[in-house]
Amino acid sequence: RLYNEVIELKGNIRVFCRCRPINQYEVANGCNSVIEYDSSVDNELQVICSDSSKKQFKFDHVFRPEDNQEAVFAQTKPIVTSVLDGYNVCIFAYGQTGTGKTFTMEGTPENRGVNYRTVEELFRISQERGGVMRYELFVSMLEVYNEKIRDLLVDNSNQQTKKLEIKQATDGTQEVPGLVEAHVFGIENVWELLKSGSRVRSVGSTSLNEMSSRSHCLLRVTVKGENLINGQRTRSHLWLVDLAGSERIGRIEVEGERLKESQFINKSLSALGDVISALASKTTHVPYRNSKLTHMLQSSLGGDCKTLMFVQVSPSSSDLGETLCSLNFASRVR
Ligand code: ADP
Ligand code: MG
Repeated sequence: RLYNEVIELKGNIRVFCRCRPINQYEVANGCNSVIEYDSSVDNELQVICSDSSKKQFKFDHVFRPEDNQEAVFAQTKPIVTSVLDGYNVCIFAYGQTGTGKTFTMEGTPENRGVNYRTVEELFRISQERGGVMRYELFVSMLEVYNEKIRDLLVDNSNQQTKKLEIKQATDGTQEVPGLVEAHVFGIENVWELLKSGSRVRSVGSTSLNEMSSRSHCLLRVTVKGENLINGQRTRSHLWLVDLAGSERIGRIEVEGERLKESQFINKSLSALGDVISALASKTTHVPYRNSKLTHMLQSSLGGDCKTLMFVQVSPSSSDLGETLCSLNFASRVR
């Protein structure tokens, strides 16, 4: 490989934790922050449990409420840009609804997230390497809801005719035949695509946040590279995944459609946890086939692929139970 990244030395699976700021609603309800940081290190946090005991968790990096999108991207950049060196990369945002998964990945127009910053950086580096490498970038955007795949770059009215399935290609990699791959030439182009994908995602649901909390949203950037000196070609995928909310839903509260949804979510999130922990422990059998999500990402998880999980948490005492669940999930995959 032409450009060797330093991150190779640090292993292929990384877990970052990000805690959002406490919000006005929580303050108004008398909630306080149950998360503490050690001022001398940037990879630990303590949770103050209801019996006042403290539980410590360690990650590759911990982002505090005051850390902005630039700070997050500075740590993420070396991983995402390794796709230009031919590596497959997967980034996930995991956590309870309302903890900032979409804020981290998508961001807002004023505070753009990892998705936009990544593509911007890929364009910048491709230009910089222009004398040695020629790159082409393609973008796909899809949603997995109740184990069904939906193309977010296809107009909603055409969805019925188009059923997307995962197929094994001749080289053993997983493909989704028929999925739109938009050839992109500049960052403004991509921002428009991301916006239209998000709009398609929310159509048909009563409340935008409701629907998005129950489906996985995947942005795939395909990079084709050609080395102009030796003619060597690479094709690699970068997946940027905003996962469905990890909160447990009380069985008594829900039934019918809602119960089915939560069972699909539990199944796919635990399948993802099983895959990443199998990879982290270097087990030979990795159970990719247990969910659409892990099956689709099979060729981008494991081997020399790079994986990053953002575990998003709320600082509020009212979310203590879910926060501990998310942090425990993260410890399992690390
Ligand atoms: P999720 O996607 O996990 O359900 P969101 O990304 O929608 O959560 O975040 C919930 C709310 O909190 C949004 O209004 C978002 O803008 C805000 N928020 C989340 N993380 C941060 C952060 N680090 N700084 C400022 N606001 C945040
Ligand atoms: Mg969200």
